[in-house]
Amino acid sequence: MLELQNIGKQFNQKIVLEDINFEIESGEIVSLLGPSGSGKTTLLHIILGLTKMDQGRIIFNGKDLSHVSMKNRGFNIVFQDYALFPHLNAYDNIVYGLKNKRGLISEKEIREYIEFLELKPHLTKKIGELSGGQKQRVALARTLVMKPKLLLLDEPLSALDGVIKESIKERIQSIAREFKLTTIIVTHDPEEALTLSDKILIIQNGGISQFGTPQQIIHQPSNDFVKEFILKQL
Ligand code: ATP
Repeated sequence: MLELQNIGKQFNQKIVLEDINFEIESGEIVSLLGPSGSGKTTLLHIILGLTKMDQGRIIFNGKDLSHVSMKNRGFNIVFQDYALFPHLNAYDNIVYGLKNKRGLISEKEIREYIEFLELKPHLTKKIGELSGGQKQRVALARTLVMKPKLLLLDEPLSALDGVIKESIKERIQSIAREFKLTTIIVTHDPEEALTLSDKILIIQNGGISQFGTPQQIIHQPSNDFVKEFILKQL
């Protein structure tokens, strides 16, 4: 279980996050949903350990990680632009992070992730030769082989469209289910959050507007902002 307690963050004396409190059960998919500039990415980076919070505590499976470095938290992120290495092929991208950690995972397990993400036919291709959906799957594989304790995804569907978007959505759901991997997703798209997640945290101006299941958010919106933000997209 991941617990966020009283998280606060300012940039240049401007409050970006204030009094953020919520809990995520193991294996759940939770979306951080809100308009541009509401603080979603900052919160994701604070959980990852990439951005330092000004106040609050992050507890993971009973352990206080508030002052633990990004490396030692053991969480892993897929960035919005995938951040793949264009000069390497798909396979070398997937195993890049394992360079000094080959004991972490066996070659057989790496192959299982590759099969699971249907990347076998693409392993020797350079990143520039891959479609958007294939790049996203390479980025997911690269993250999964690191055996993260928590999977963080920043706008994983925003660069994709139509059928590809649906297939990556299903893929993310099966990763969370099959590997029992707690997954946190940043999105600005209510439709994505409603169809992808077990729970949604709606952020507005750095504060929590509502935290609940898609059904709760649709049927019992906590305020007019939630109502309008969700309804206008349905
Ligand atoms: P978007 O959907 O546009 O990415 P977001 O909800 O993810 O938005 P954040 O990127 O977390 O929002 O930004 C929240 C606020 O913090 C914004 O006002 C942004 O300008 C500010 N901010 C974010 N990072 C920094 C930084 N490194 N230095 C100064 N201000 C920052």
